[in-house]
Amino acid sequence: MPSGGYASMNAGLVVSRMKLTLEGRVVECVVRTSNRARRISLAICPEAGLVITRPICYPVAVVFSFVRRHQDWILKHLGQRQSVAECIPLRWPYGMTLPYRGQEFVVKLQETLNQPNVSCDGEGNLRVHLRRVNVEAGRRLLKEWYWVEASRWLNMRVTDLGSRLGMIWRGVIIRDQRRRWGSCSVTGTLSFNYRLVMMPPAVMDYVVLHELVHRRHMNHSSDFWSLVESYHPQYRQARKWLTTYGPWLPFAR
Ligand SMILES: [Zn+2]
Repeated sequence: MPSGGYASMNAGLVVSRMKLTLEGRVVECVVRTSNRARRISLAICPEAGLVITRPICYPVAVVFSFVRRHQDWILKHLGQRQSVAECIPLRWPYGMTLPYRGQEFVVKLQETLNQPNVSCDGEGNLRVHLRRVNVEAGRRLLKEWYWVEASRWLNMRVTDLGSRLGMIWRGVIIRDQRRRWGSCSVTGTLSFNYRLVMMPPAVMDYVVLHELVHRRHMNHSSDFWSLVESYHPQYRQARKWLTTYGPWLPFAR
């Protein structure tokens, strides 16, 4: 199994967007789910609007009741800047971070004379190059890029792990689903969620392995789990990552 992925399973900061209704008004906000934060905090940022930082151990209900208790403050400070925010489609992150292979990257939209493209620059930036800077076009290009990267990595990992396990599969399909990470059909087609490429490599490997092992055991019997464990001794940690961070990964249509 790859090394290096396990440590980053614990270093978590997941940024997602959601809509809240405060006194009948729809407020878009950024939620940062962090395992370093000690308390819930609220901030109003010029680009992102309302930013809520949530310690990972706090249930969502606690966060929402905190937000409701402070709704007067939020609405007052959001005041004039909400009209600015409405001009910027906040559907996919702009001026904020996105995860890729378990690390956070700052999204930067930039102009180019070349073909539009996305690149990671090794300094923690995800550079989205467009002919003309446009948030909506950037969002589309970013999603395409994630899709291609997901396909590339998942095909690579299926080939590697599948041949080590001696499994036969029919093909790999990339999908866009909110909660489902992977599945294995009776005919041997493996389907995976494109957002697996946002996760730490060890978590992606667990999902790939899980579906490949279904080629031998079409159930979750003890034989199934012991085969998973023999190839991924820390699979329990990966499952825990999926349940705690999975629901907070950014999702875009
Ligand atoms: Zn399963």
